[in-house]
Amino acid sequence: TSFWSNVQKGPEDPILGVSIAFNKDTSPSKINLGVGAYRDENGKPYVLECVKKADKKIFEAGVDHEYAPIVGLASFNSLSVALALGEDCKAIKDKKIAVIQTLSGTGALRVAAEFLARFYPGKTAYVPNPTWGNHNTIFADSGVAVKSYAYYNPQNCGLNFDGMYNDINAAPNGSIILLHACAHNPTGVDPSIAQWKKISQLCKDKQHFVLFDFAYQGFASGSPEKDAEPVRLFVADGHQIGLCQSFAKNFGLYGQRIGAFSLITGTPEEALAVESQLKILVRPMYSNPPIFGARVVSTILSNKELTEQWRTEVKGMADRIIGMRESLVKYLKQHGSTKDWSHITNQIGMFCYTGLTPEQVDRLASEFHIYLTRNGRISIAGINSKNVEYLAKAIHAVTK
Ligand code: PLP
Repeated sequence: TSFWSNVQKGPEDPILGVSIAFNKDTSPSKINLGVGAYRDENGKPYVLECVKKADKKIFEAGVDHEYAPIVGLASFNSLSVALALGEDCKAIKDKKIAVIQTLSGTGALRVAAEFLARFYPGKTAYVPNPTWGNHNTIFADSGVAVKSYAYYNPQNCGLNFDGMYNDINAAPNGSIILLHACAHNPTGVDPSIAQWKKISQLCKDKQHFVLFDFAYQGFASGSPEKDAEPVRLFVADGHQIGLCQSFAKNFGLYGQRIGAFSLITGTPEEALAVESQLKILVRPMYSNPPIFGARVVSTILSNKELTEQWRTEVKGMADRIIGMRESLVKYLKQHGSTKDWSHITNQIGMFCYTGLTPEQVDRLASEFHIYLTRNGRISIAGINSKNVEYLAKAIHAVTK
């Protein structure tokens, strides 16, 4: 008998399932709208030019491959926080922020959850309904109870602001509130700035701890500053936020696993104490983070020219996505759809919650070779000028 005969096969990740079905399909017109990774006009992964230049600089510098410190590369950490909060952020100047390099956004969330489990025990984390599936499991696996707050309104494929507000208000004082800073995944629905202000005030009144998941800075609107507005607004309102950053999408560094977790504290001494505890948490988990992605981001953000190029390129990705949303709606109308598709252009970021039913999603796959998750979420990055009209015709066919 084996040690592991009692281990049962677990369910496949739903997004992976979409890719498996897509790969099996031999039709030349097949489209994969499942994966959350940017694709260029030819449906190919995109390596940013600024990243290629940084690669070259790093190579030419003849660096060694020694371990990074437990907290990661110091230059990366400070550049990362400054990118999110703005260089003139008072908490940065006052040295009140503890920052650590993490294994991309997922790693940042995991470190955050582990820290909260240890130093903010007995609290429940509230995540939007729906949210990126990993949020629930990260908190649960770290021993933090998870509940959800209302977020999406299926009637108009937009925000259920009243529901969100009421649920955050009904959560016990001092709860953990997880907010997607921009480009909400999976819905593409973000609050307006006026709504963010109300949420900030409410969280203040309720003394909630706010944890921002910032996985798409620059990728939503095309402007890193505009996408950072909600986070900066909360910080300006005096929240001691936690911040989870990912450089997977906006720098196209998916597999390099580069991100950061920051916590705003009350004093420089508190920041040092928090940092020391983060190190104690990280050491037995993965010892220290990988070095290459940190070098790439740090090389770009410490060089004016490369930073400018990054801004142009991240805007290029965001604009292509916004353009594809417009194009999809245009072709839906052109092919006779009289439904209201305004949510496709109102939503923002990589994903669109189309409102398609599971049955309609199944028909798209079986009749049109178009693959997406059964919740009706499409990754706009999978659309390009060559397949958008075909996609529009197919969506019209299954929704008329
Ligand atoms: N948070 C959200 C909302 C995401 O959509 C993602 C990626 O899909 C992540 C975090 C983290 O991704 P990564 O660990 O690749 O940075």
